[in-house]
Amino acid sequence: MIDLLTAMKVDGLRSVNCFLIGYAPTLMSYKLFIPGPIAVSEKTLRAMAQPMIGHRSTDFVALYNSIQPELQALACTQDPVYISTSSAWGVMEGALRNVCQKKVLNCMNGAFSDKWYDVALRCGKAATALKFEWGQPVDPEAVRRELATGAYDAITLIHNETSCGCMSDLPAIMAVLREFPEVISIIDTVSSFSAVPIKKDELGIDVLITGSQKALALPPGLSLVSVSKRALERAAKAADRGYYFDFIEFQKNHENGMTPSTPVIPLIYALKSKLDDIKAEGLAARYARHARLNATVRAFVLAKGFKLFPKEGYGSVSLNCFANTLNLDLGALNKILKSKHQLVIDGGYGKLKGKTFRISNMGDETDETIAAMLKSLESALAETPKAAA
Ligand SMILES: *Cc1c(COP(=O)(O)O)cnc(C)c1O
Repeated sequence: MIDLLTAMKVDGLRSVNCFLIGYAPTLMSYKLFIPGPIAVSEKTLRAMAQPMIGHRSTDFVALYNSIQPELQALACTQDPVYISTSSAWGVMEGALRNVCQKKVLNCMNGAFSDKWYDVALRCGKAATALKFEWGQPVDPEAVRRELATGAYDAITLIHNETSCGCMSDLPAIMAVLREFPEVISIIDTVSSFSAVPIKKDELGIDVLITGSQKALALPPGLSLVSVSKRALERAAKAADRGYYFDFIEFQKNHENGMTPSTPVIPLIYALKSKLDDIKAEGLAARYARHARLNATVRAFVLAKGFKLFPKEGYGSVSLNCFANTLNLDLGALNKILKSKHQLVIDGGYGKLKGKTFRISNMGDETDETIAAMLKSLESALAETPKAAA
């Protein structure tokens, strides 16, 4: 009891939670505003700390089947939503191995989409890089021109390029893809899923992929993939699709309310808890909250004299990526934020390190938490030195 009281004084709820679920209190007591992983709520953490069940038990089947309709509603699909114990890259690679036999067109406009081309080559696939500048959206007309060559049977697209905060026009691109029924669409919605509406069936998305540690505000380690009938038919013909990410294995097990191998059950408990939260808030309110908080952060930082990095009109709704036009020392900024304000933002991804900074507004953020973060940011900016010339 003394330990519990000490924990409450020192570290507030987080330590109390750690105490209750039997962990040593963590040393970290800062909040993540990086675009993944993001802060995980106490409710979610508690949901994870439930007794283990067997993954072939009736309890697991009940758990799996209970979340399926919610997942389908969230993805606006009649297709199954498989649960993969992996980060998103597992299914991003696996999808290529399932559906690409001829050649894949990789749309590239940032670090994650650039990497996907590299992954296609590493899987031994014939691939074409359709390149745009980082921060520029994928151009539907360029996609049409390339697909019209008839060389492709698959395409990869990242809806929300998290590395540079750029959100491409998914409905416009999907309208083009519907003209090419032989091309299976593999769409990464890792950092947009549940932050903006994504109508899988209406848009005709074949393979929809998302991960746990972005807008779903779960810890990392789980990804979701919803696969259309024609993508499954394609997969059935792929002799070299492997085992762990085999869509046919996922489908067979799905029919019995299970996953092919032992899944990360604590994260599935967390997912169920999060789906309850989403239902309670309501989808429209959730989308509106993301849009509102995104606009609040954007307006605040632009008023400080920074510019938005992605092309106007294509800024992400789940995060903002700002150009460091004031040439501040972003490393110093983050040190101040972490030590004095117990929060962390991102100082630029890959080749944009130091040149941009990113602030997430996805997941469980509220008007209050965003206002508090911006107050800290204002104070920290005032004492941040310029970057060395
Ligand atoms: C975070 C992210 C990924 C990679 O996810 P992992 O969990 O690291 O596998 C892929 N695509 C996008 C758009 C992301 O934001």
